[in-house]
Amino acid sequence: MKKLLLTITAISLLVACKNEGEKKENSTVQEASKEQVVNVYTHRHYESDQDIFERFEKKTGIKVKVINASADELIQKMKMEGAQSPADVLITVDAGRLTRAKDLELLQSIDSEILKTSIPEHLRDVDDQWFGLTKRARIIAYAKDRVSPEDLSTYEDLINKKWKGKILVRSSSNIYNQSLMASIIANDGDEFAKEWAEGIVANMGRSPKGSDRDQVKAIVAGEGDLTIVNSYYIGRMLNSPDPEEVKAANQVGLYFPNQNDRGTHINVSGAGVAKHAPNKENAILFIEFLISEEAQQIFTNSNYEYPVLANVPPVETIKNWGNFKEDDLALVKLGENNKKAVLIFDEAGWK
Ligand code: FE
Repeated sequence: MKKLLLTITAISLLVACKNEGEKKENSTVQEASKEQVVNVYTHRHYESDQDIFERFEKKTGIKVKVINASADELIQKMKMEGAQSPADVLITVDAGRLTRAKDLELLQSIDSEILKTSIPEHLRDVDDQWFGLTKRARIIAYAKDRVSPEDLSTYEDLINKKWKGKILVRSSSNIYNQSLMASIIANDGDEFAKEWAEGIVANMGRSPKGSDRDQVKAIVAGEGDLTIVNSYYIGRMLNSPDPEEVKAANQVGLYFPNQNDRGTHINVSGAGVAKHAPNKENAILFIEFLISEEAQQIFTNSNYEYPVLANVPPVETIKNWGNFKEDDLALVKLGENNKKAVLIFDEAGWK
């Protein structure tokens, strides 16, 4: 009898221990599910961004889970996932593309005093669905030995016959060119925009191919005399580990067009909160962190873009290019005029 009691007690103890173990396991599961996260869809894959994300994690305890893909793939992915999408934040470049994400109803309006007061109005969406994080200028790069900067003035003047056979520029399927065209439509009207596209095509030194950086290299190789390029590519080339890139970037002069009228065309990289964000509060905190002085400084230092925060100094390389007047066109216009821009390019035969 005693033996049986002992056995029962032993079994009860074992069961109790087992329950205790399960409880522990359950509470670990609960803790894990309580773990704070923010899921970030981004096509930026720079070390600098990783650095910024880690700083955010340290500061807030919110884990940053990054899903990398090309910009159009990410938008496609969010579209397919619909309400099931784990995406909290979308980071991408170009106001034209950010507007595309908004039009596809992939983003939501958020209310953030920090974002509204830190980011100039023309660099964010009117419905607070996306916010500019960094600025880039679309500038003219020219062969220093063949072009005098005195001969340059505006984007509009690039259709002057004196540039016949001398302009190299990438394809019109590229969003940067679509947004530049959208700004020409906004500033000069449809009629002139058509004339401009035709004029550029007439002045091209070759059929459009390659990236912005490829145009710069082709100019150095003598295939043409000038191109239109995003400023940070020159910054990156000047600081590249590849001596050929450094050499090429040093052989071109940089010209910021339209300084005597509206200013040089600028665009942004930006972020928005996903429509079905499971962690909306974390997403807002995350984007607010990207606008902090700390993050803005890392963005400019590593990718040679201009901070959107006025009190953060741009990195030395681009500071050396001097101050310039920026076109302060509301960037939402770039999205609004995108379809028209694509149509005009097609009609003009800008491949
Ligand atoms: Fe780019």
